[in-house]
Amino acid sequence: MNAPDALLRPFEQLSFDDLFVRSHAADPGSHNVPRQVPGAAYSRVIPTPVAAPRLLAWSDVLGESLGIARPAPGGGVVADVLGGARVLPGMQPYAARYGGHQFGQWAGQLGDGRAITLGEIIDRAGQRQELQLKGAGRTPYSRHADGRAVLRSSLREFLCSEAMHHLGVPTTRALSLVATGEGVVRDMFYNGNPQVEPGAVVCRVAPCFVRFGNFEIFAAENEAANLQTLADWVIRHHYPHLGEPGPKAYAAWFDEVCGRTALMVAHWMRVGFVHGVMNTDNMSILGLTIDYGPYGWLEGFDLDWTPNTTDAEERRYSYGQQPQIAYWNLTRLAGALSDLVGDDDALRAGLERYRIDFGTHWSQMLADKLGIAAQAGDDPLIVELFGLLQQTETDMTIFFRRLADVPSDADATAEQRLAPLRDAFYAPGAPSGEHGRVLADWLARHAQRVRDEAEPPAQRIARMQRSNPKYVLRNWIAQQAIDAAAQDDMAPTERLLELLKRPYDEQPEHADLFARRPEWARFKPGCSALSCSS
Ligand code: AMP
Ligand code: MG
Repeated sequence: MNAPDALLRPFEQLSFDDLFVRSHAADPGSHNVPRQVPGAAYSRVIPTPVAAPRLLAWSDVLGESLGIARPAPGGGVVADVLGGARVLPGMQPYAARYGGHQFGQWAGQLGDGRAITLGEIIDRAGQRQELQLKGAGRTPYSRHADGRAVLRSSLREFLCSEAMHHLGVPTTRALSLVATGEGVVRDMFYNGNPQVEPGAVVCRVAPCFVRFGNFEIFAAENEAANLQTLADWVIRHHYPHLGEPGPKAYAAWFDEVCGRTALMVAHWMRVGFVHGVMNTDNMSILGLTIDYGPYGWLEGFDLDWTPNTTDAEERRYSYGQQPQIAYWNLTRLAGALSDLVGDDDALRAGLERYRIDFGTHWSQMLADKLGIAAQAGDDPLIVELFGLLQQTETDMTIFFRRLADVPSDADATAEQRLAPLRDAFYAPGAPSGEHGRVLADWLARHAQRVRDEAEPPAQRIARMQRSNPKYVLRNWIAQQAIDAAAQDDMAPTERLLELLKRPYDEQPEHADLFARRPEWARFKPGCSALSCSS
């Protein structure tokens, strides 16, 4: 529903706050060069101005919830601010210091190397929200990199943040996409082919951007006072229902972080999202999906699939690994909090909660996807389905969405059961032969189960459709929007932004986007393979 215009203000008239900056230890240094920043939670840093900021895309849904009117085309002053060329009164821009485990190894200080928070505003629901620019130039945490981001990765972050929100997956949001008018040099596949690409800045929005890694750096550097200040601040402002910070609240807080992370990862699994770089610096303390980089969406269902070429060997962050990796990341957080909490049994209980919660959420979501009742323990029907889906390339989104169309009556033939699913298979003529027989047999048993459980059909189908999106941001679809944007055509981006507001609705006018990956996209960079170069 559109907010009445009277409730929306021009961006320039917002009042900005700086609670994070006021609450934590600042870097005493002010020179903006890459360096270690011991003792600090953040460094003050002004975005580096860009040549010609121009507003390319805007999220009306988020803008309205923040109480911000849509800027005029091109953006004017708003493009200046959200492109990093101008700082408004009340903003105290900063880059946060954090560390992290990258691909299983402690990496020391990382920090916001290209993200700069401008300030905080209070949204229409009364919730504080940080506005953070990604790609806004160098900070003390940039290490050897340039602090910039390219259009392709920024557009991917912009669209996916909003798509995930509408899918019901906890996530940071994206308000705007601004072209910088400057080129950025990237060697997309680290293979000696650097190219100049158009630069862009995304404005991301979240109640806070604190990561597991913010705690890890303080623990690793024995900065106990900073660690406690940050924990107390997160509890007071973001987990206020846990009461005054102290031993009890710390344990309850870790427990809740575990619970939120379990829910987030279960949703990823449900919609076929693969984050791609689940390093601990990319894990939000609020349980939000954060840092959209070389992420991807399953097309063929494959537990072993990862879009990230940097991880092609080890496949540490592949689709099926995500639940375990989140657990491992939580053990790193537990390690960092151990001295503060002073009760390792409580931390172990939190980790156990993760396992239990993930299991509960995932079985319920799978049961919803299949239109059956969740069972305690492994459900043989689901275990067999996973085997079948892996056997031949089967489009995850189409298969699950169409499952609701499979007849559940006892006298349906094998062909009648298979017919609604045929679009999900990549091999011509599939499913056929032995695979077709086994799948038809599985569908017959699924139908039997549906009849036995006797849930009213309309209710069952609605439950399935709410759990099985029709439209997700398929990699090749995002790539088409990127290719058009590079030619200054934002129409495909606008179309996706609209479409993905209602991913569970039929929207037959967009049926061309409910389609298997076309063959041209199978090996095209950006469609099947992505790197961290962004
Ligand atoms: P990521 O893998 O994208 O989460 O990034 C890991 C670390 O590298 C973070 O500290 C980022 O801020 C930093 N980083 C990534 N890309 C850049 C860049 N172009 N310039 C500066 N820092 C970067
Ligand atoms: Mg990151």
